Amino acid sequence: MLGHMQSQPLLISSLIVHAERHHARGQIVSRRVEGDIHRTDWGQIAQRSRQVANAINGLGLAVGDRFATLAWNGYRHLELYFGVSGSQRVLHTLNPRLHPEQLAWIVNHAEDRVVAFDMTFLPLVKAVAAHCPTVKHWIALCDADKLPADSGLPGLLSYEAWMGQQSTDYIWPEFDENSASSMCYTSGTTGNPKAALYSHRSTILHAYSAALPDSLCLSARDSVLPVVPMFHVNAWGLPYSAAATGCSLVFPGPAMDGKSIFELLESEKVTMAAGVPTVWQMLLGHMQTEGLKFSTLKRTVIGGSACPPAMIEAFNNDYGVEVLHAWGMTEMSPLGTVCTLKRDQMELTPAEQMKVRLKQGRAVYGVDMKIVDADGKELPWDGKTYGDLLVRGPWIIASYFKGEGGDPLVRDEAGHGWFPTGDVAVIDADGFMQITDRSKDVIKSGGEWISSIDVENIAMAHPAVAMAACVGMKHPKWDERPIVVVVKKPGKEVTREELLAHYEGKIAKWQIPDDVVFVDVIPLGATGKMQKMTLRQQLKDYVLPG
Ligand code: AMP
Repeated sequence: MLGHMQSQPLLISSLIVHAERHHARGQIVSRRVEGDIHRTDWGQIAQRSRQVANAINGLGLAVGDRFATLAWNGYRHLELYFGVSGSQRVLHTLNPRLHPEQLAWIVNHAEDRVVAFDMTFLPLVKAVAAHCPTVKHWIALCDADKLPADSGLPGLLSYEAWMGQQSTDYIWPEFDENSASSMCYTSGTTGNPKAALYSHRSTILHAYSAALPDSLCLSARDSVLPVVPMFHVNAWGLPYSAAATGCSLVFPGPAMDGKSIFELLESEKVTMAAGVPTVWQMLLGHMQTEGLKFSTLKRTVIGGSACPPAMIEAFNNDYGVEVLHAWGMTEMSPLGTVCTLKRDQMELTPAEQMKVRLKQGRAVYGVDMKIVDADGKELPWDGKTYGDLLVRGPWIIASYFKGEGGDPLVRDEAGHGWFPTGDVAVIDADGFMQITDRSKDVIKSGGEWISSIDVENIAMAHPAVAMAACVGMKHPKWDERPIVVVVKKPGKEVTREELLAHYEGKIAKWQIPDDVVFVDVIPLGATGKMQKMTLRQQLKDYVLPG
């Protein structure tokens, strides 16, 4: 027997319809690429999203076509979030920090039809345009009079001229909630980048769960500043949860230094902010130097990399700001766990509470997790036994775009598919998970991935290199920085400087290793695989160059 309730598909357009009807005056503030502060509201965003949808129809894009963005956090990007997905096309947020070759590879793999970009990225667009044959339209996110005459991009459109003339009348189509809505590539696994392809359903369910009190606790009384980029897992889904709850949004644009962020937090009376530890390191550094205090900030969500204890303590003890330590992945939309205390833990001493707060936290409703041993057997939640962390749920990836990498899921005896996160963790009896290591071979620097394989392959292409292993070393600002450990070919010579120079132009500058360590042998396992854990152990006294 079926229930007798209305069966409405869960679509992203319903978020902007809700925001317009119930929170039209909710503020959306953006620091623009031009440097000024722009103010609008949910009502205007909704209208302009409909204009965007009409303009996309005008370009003749088919259902499911990819519309890419190369943009900072800002109101135009927000309009594209709703206009593109709501009109049944797929929003593809590109990461501008990648090397032009990596970026062109991704655009081609996604078969993007349109790329809309902030003017900051014009040089990058110029570098890749000729290598992106699928892209039929380039749109600069600016007014018509700001369009450069000498862009070198035939038919370059200005966003405002393109969508500004369109009617604000548009009826959002209804379709299957499992349709693709947006996509994000990640290099968080080995091989070429792979894309997580989100659906309308997964996005809406994630938006509900992320807003809950023990998740990010969002409400119509909040003003939220996502420093986490809209090109990285949809800014942790904040634009969607914000539309659902009616909270205000404050976008930092390209200015993510401590001073600029502090100014916005204060001038816009921000109550909650979200970002990776590196960003908060810069903010705290600025505040400590200048002797500043927050007047409205209550919570900060810190994730993407482990939050250092000193940071939680500084926010909590010096500034009275609660840190929500969160963990997730691109493949998880991204929210998996958030660290909020339970009722009985409120009775603990501050020192005991701090021990809990350092953990990555409890699974939000909708995410199930477990730790397993090498045979896939589930391990106990005793806070001591560590194992590979597996997850499942309606906003967790089932397979990568175009089936890349095959079936990523591990089946249990009931036939349920679990996604292996590549993280190693312990879980305590209260369900608090703590990451202890990473089994995947990647380095995360300032919240962005560096593929150790890419770094190794470039070193191996040097005629004097016999073997190369790239490992991550702890860094106070960037969390991790790569170094490359090298065995030279007999009778061949190469210096540290020569090898580092060999990386120039082959990967993005920030992906170039900080140092080269020459060794006689790199430890290998039985199958000939490099033993990075052993190597890291051997390098335990190594210090990164200052
Ligand atoms: P991404 O797909 O870029 O969001 O990266 C996801 C990965 O970042 C996770 O699998 C972890 O390895 C790492 N990560 C994310 N959040 C945390 C955290 N709070 N603590 C430690 N590692 C984290």
